[in-house]
Amino acid sequence: MRSDGASAPRRVTLIPGDGVGPELVEALHVVLAAMEVPLEFERHEAGAAVAERFGTPLPDSVVESVRRNRVALKGPVTTPVGGGFRSVNVALRTALDLYACVRPVRSLAGVPNRYEGVDLVIVRENSEDLYIGDERMLDADTAEAIKRITRRGSERIARFAFEYARAYGRRRVTAGHKANIMKATDGLFLSVAREVAVGYPDIAFDERIIDALCLQLVQRPQEFDVLLLPNLYGDIVSDLAAGLVGGLGVVPGANLGAEAAVFEAVHGSAPDIAGRGIVNPAAFLLSAAMMLDHLGEQEGAARVRGALLDVLAEGRFVTPDLGGRATTSEMAAAVAARV
Ligand code: NAD
Repeated sequence: MRSDGASAPRRVTLIPGDGVGPELVEALHVVLAAMEVPLEFERHEAGAAVAERFGTPLPDSVVESVRRNRVALKGPVTTPVGGGFRSVNVALRTALDLYACVRPVRSLAGVPNRYEGVDLVIVRENSEDLYIGDERMLDADTAEAIKRITRRGSERIARFAFEYARAYGRRRVTAGHKANIMKATDGLFLSVAREVAVGYPDIAFDERIIDALCLQLVQRPQEFDVLLLPNLYGDIVSDLAAGLVGGLGVVPGANLGAEAAVFEAVHGSAPDIAGRGIVNPAAFLLSAAMMLDHLGEQEGAARVRGALLDVLAEGRFVTPDLGGRATTSEMAAAVAARV
């Protein structure tokens, strides 16, 4: 507490990322400048732009900053396809053991979507599965990858999903898997989920083979509540679910671990629109609101979320992905005017 009675600003690591990342950070600053939030950003670069200077796309100083501050807000970072450096996003999640990825997917008033009434949360295991990056060429024509699933990893994410359901008044957890084919790996994930479910009699539990889950999500998404998914399926289903409620521009996310939390939108660096000033800032602003909640700044979170939802509902100042004509900064200014 300072002598004037105000609490010291909370320091947060800010990783703008690349592609549309810097435009999103600019939009956030416009919104935060319109309200008093006790935040102080420690800005760090990651990705291709720093790889040459530091010899790595994720310098130790970035990881140390998040470890120190325990909370980060991150823009998207481009990952080269097929070769090049390992994903900065996966590396950061691994370095900080951010094992739980939480992505709330909701139909929002005013956002053109395929369904009304979708309100589900994806809980994606973030540390194992094919994302451990253990793959190799056996010979010039044969490649293989290791899919690693552990009891510990499966248990902590299943527990997380049920605890989350309890904390947020959710009624059902549905596990997605392909244990009919991958009997050892997905079989372990599923059997641990079933075991954990027994300890939560107040929360319903069911399971779906992942392909059937995709079908049902497209046909009847309103029926789902919390989805508990291994890493790869969680990644794919996140984009599918975003497509049900208006696209990647509106779905936020958090990567959570025991020691740190990194908040970021589901979407990537959107190279096809980067630099054009038309990226939808909603997903990033909603991720920032999730971060404010996490920091105990519920009032600030509610103001950002409320102002943004108003702007979306009104539909006058929204970006082209939502059928509007506003630029990112016009949309940010409209949100700022309402916080
Ligand atoms: P993407 O999410 O960047 O873009 C997919 C499509 O959605 C594009 O047409 C894009 O213009 C559109 N889109 C995404 N976000 C939008 C927004 N906020 N407003 C308006 N339109 C939006 O996916 P991609 O093209 O497959 O990936 C691009 C790069 O991002 C890749 O290098 C990928 O590895 C990386 N990526 C990073 C993260 C992360 O940093 N967490 C996540 C996903 C992908």
